[in-house]
Amino acid sequence: MRTLVIGAGVLGLVTAWNLQKDGHDVTIVDKVGKYAGASHRSFAWINANHKLPESYHRLNAAGVEAHERLQEELAEHGSWFHQLGCILSDSTQDAGENYAARAQESQEFGYPVETVDRIRLQELEPKIDWPVGSALFFPKDGHLDNFTFGDVIHNLLAQAGIDILVREVESVGTTSSAAQVAFVDGSTDSFDQVVIAAGAESGPIAQRSGMTLPVAPLDSPGPRTHSLLGITTPTEVELGRVVISDRINVRPRSDGSMFVQIPPVEHRTQEGESPELLDEIRTVMETSLHELFGTAVPVDEVIFSGRSFPEDGLSIVGYLDDAHRVYSLVTHSGMTLGPLLGRLVANELNGGQEELLDEFRPSRFRDGVVHEDRDDFIGKQ
Ligand SMILES: Cc1cc2nc3c(=O)[nH]c(=O)nc-3n(C[C@H](O)[C@H](O)[C@H](O)COP(=O)(O)OP(=O)(O)OC[C@H]3O[C@@H](n4cnc5c(N)ncnc54)[C@H](O)[C@@H]3O)c2cc1C
Repeated sequence: MRTLVIGAGVLGLVTAWNLQKDGHDVTIVDKVGKYAGASHRSFAWINANHKLPESYHRLNAAGVEAHERLQEELAEHGSWFHQLGCILSDSTQDAGENYAARAQESQEFGYPVETVDRIRLQELEPKIDWPVGSALFFPKDGHLDNFTFGDVIHNLLAQAGIDILVREVESVGTTSSAAQVAFVDGSTDSFDQVVIAAGAESGPIAQRSGMTLPVAPLDSPGPRTHSLLGITTPTEVELGRVVISDRINVRPRSDGSMFVQIPPVEHRTQEGESPELLDEIRTVMETSLHELFGTAVPVDEVIFSGRSFPEDGLSIVGYLDDAHRVYSLVTHSGMTLGPLLGRLVANELNGGQEELLDEFRPSRFRDGVVHEDRDDFIGKQ
């Protein structure tokens, strides 16, 4: 089976690797190279936290478990999934109500959650000057060294003789027996199956191919499609796990730096990217980090970061054409879902049908697109 994977982000890489293991003759192309899209600018909190509806929670919870298994399976290649939990703290006057609702939701879904008091918070993250008396702790959550993970899968592909080819796909045409791929350089090639895993640009590829794949375009930025993601300089200030709150989100990185987001300024993404905005946000981040840790943590870089966001917020996974030649693999939360979807998609390309994916098929858009409701809950990524 000659199979093309378009896109070498986390989803394309892990899918190509699974397909290769299953005996496909895999080609993977990217118009820029590995991790050129959302995968290189992701907060990479691995979680099934407040992912609604319940079918999407189940998918993400299975995604967390797939990370656990894969980290164990590939332990000899290093360590990238740190399942140390996530602390969710709320400093607003609605905190009690918000905690109760989030805790109840998790309990109903069977996703572990604990209410923690200030003493426990201090034990979990002693360097933080906690502005709250209590918080929620989600022990199954974790954080991913997203670059390490990408490198490991890339190396495994390379060891199997599969290189990422730098080529840009224009469109994919289908017949009952093949998928004809046209590249931007004017060349064409024929494959048995094609997986479109081109992140935010999957929509335009599908459109040029006469298919529907509603992914939010990145050309009119706002908090739905973009985030202001800070990277601190490596620091002596110790942080062990993901901390999510109404004021600041932080998580540690393997080189001693941290990722940081400031929820109250995310709406500024609608101003569009400019050096002035990024500079201003860097100062806001440094002020918030100082408040959190009681000491200076310089911010090295602020990235105006675009997501790959299906218009209704949910994964779009499945065949786009009746002949089953072209398969869509687009989702937000792709860091959480990567190992799971990579495996399930390979199973489906081998002829299987995965029940977990039933509610995420592209066919749901046949009667039009219902856009996701805006809902700015704590921890929204
Ligand atoms: C700020 C931010 C925070 C996030 N936080 C989290 C989080 O905490 N937890 C979580 O699970 N997820 C998070 N995500 C989401 C997650 O990072 C993405 O869902 C994931 O990286 C998507 O991976 P992908 O492989 O689908 O796409 P991408 O990484 O975007 O890769 C797509 C690739 O396709 C290539 N491409 C595009 N067009 C073409 C073409 N025509 N021909 C060939 N190649 C092409 C691009 O060059 C790119 O390399 C976050 C994302 C952002 C932006």
